[in-house]
Amino acid sequence: SILTGLVFGILGGALCAYFLTVRLRSGKEILMGIKRGQFYVVYQPVVDAKELKMSGVEVLMRWNHPIAGLIPPDAFIAFAEAQQLIVPLTRHLFELIARDAQKLQHILPAGARLGVNLAPSHLHSPTFKEDIQAFAASLPPNHFQLIFEITERDMVKENEASCLFTWMNEQGFQTAVDDFGTGHSALIYLERFKLDYLKIDRGFVNSIGLETVTSPVLDAVLTLARKLSMTTVAEGVETPEQAKWLIDRGVNYLQGYYFARPLTLEQLKSWGGQQKTY
Ligand code: C2E
Ligand code: CA
Ligand code: CA
Ligand code: CA
Repeated sequence: SILTGLVFGILGGALCAYFLTVRLRSGKEILMGIKRGQFYVVYQPVVDAKELKMSGVEVLMRWNHPIAGLIPPDAFIAFAEAQQLIVPLTRHLFELIARDAQKLQHILPAGARLGVNLAPSHLHSPTFKEDIQAFAASLPPNHFQLIFEITERDMVKENEASCLFTWMNEQGFQTAVDDFGTGHSALIYLERFKLDYLKIDRGFVNSIGLETVTSPVLDAVLTLARKLSMTTVAEGVETPEQAKWLIDRGVNYLQGYYFARPLTLEQLKSWGGQQKTY
């Protein structure tokens, strides 16, 4: 039976590799996945550093493929991007959130922040503004504060999109630069785009506690954010030591496995913001 296990393991692995390399490269698989309801969303709590209470959630997409299994978003977003399927996929994401909105409204307090990731090619789509407005209109009025997140990497690529960020602000949405610290010298864009939130990449957060001296780069990033009047969110907080270090330095919000993993709607309901101590 070790042998059969091995055979099945190898077969399974091969099948999985086949899917990831061949089938997923044809756009059909993503469109089929949308049609068959294989995508779903999870919500990761974001915690207020002062009150240590949940201030909102970030929405993260998942793809449960019947053969390849759970495909990570980093992978399928890249596939969708390559196949020009970001727009239908993001519209589907908006639908999934809207479908949950009634329940979410009861779990999250009024004014709760709802972070939604945007892929760069969507910004160029002629339907971008319509898509965003339709999404906002599909949610209970005035309950959620929408925050659209774009990575620092993509921000540099999309430097002509700055008017879109202004537009989003005028529409009452907020904007965040994601994965800050992983792109290359986006400082000039940071000043030009006037985004509301700066999300400190978990690479920085990871290094807290590893070095005996505190991280000078992270200190500088926090100073910079303050000078640009940006609200800071630390991502990937996994230990109480990291949380304490960040809180002591005035980071506004914390997100990470130490507080909660990305949760299904049901899990989010029972999580309810368990108190953490330092
Ligand atoms: P992101 O926007 O930076 O999202 C945070 C990622 O960090 C998530 O990975 C989350 O599960 C993970 N994470 C959160 N806390 C911790 C922690 O304490 N430790 C560690 N090691 N990881 C943590 P996930 O869900 O795999 O998503 C990966 C990326 O895929 C996201 O990074 C985002 O760029 C993209 N993505 C996810 N959902 C969507 C979506 O709906 N639309 C778009 N355009 N991109 C998405
Ligand atoms: Ca994000
Ligand atoms: Ca991030
Ligand atoms: Ca603003």
